[in-house]
Amino acid sequence: MRFLCDAMLGGLAKWLRAAGYNAYYASEGTDISDATLTRKALEESRVLLTSDGGFLERKPVRDGSVGFLRVPHLPLEDQLRLVVEHFGLVRRQSRCMECNGELDTVSREVVAGRVPQGVVRDHETFFLCQGCGRVFWHGSHWQRIGDRLERVFG
Ligand SMILES: [Zn+2]
Repeated sequence: MRFLCDAMLGGLAKWLRAAGYNAYYASEGTDISDATLTRKALEESRVLLTSDGGFLERKPVRDGSVGFLRVPHLPLEDQLRLVVEHFGLVRRQSRCMECNGELDTVSREVVAGRVPQGVVRDHETFFLCQGCGRVFWHGSHWQRIGDRLERVFG
């Protein structure tokens, strides 16, 4: 299941990525009209997650060609829980929260020179984003992300 979030739900898109789901959101500088987003959702078989009901007037949404869920203004964790419960999502291998790319598990040799020496020394496994090339590891930041996902997915 792939998602398309409207521009108001960028935070939710990032957390869906952390949970392992392909989630696109329209960022600043791109065409975020309802028509464009609806067409993209249809073409890429993405479920539309939106904060307003305007999309309900779009034919592909009305006739059910595009899956749709309205996500109200709630704390982020509650928004994520709503989507997870509605679609019965399970937690998967995380994607890059920044760019939606898939993460490869790589050894410390691969990232040596690209992350601080202390980090290389203290961790054996790293994650390299196929999309933007960022390197991640299970540090304290990751711990907070994992804790939050744990609360939502149980
Ligand atoms: Zn990335």
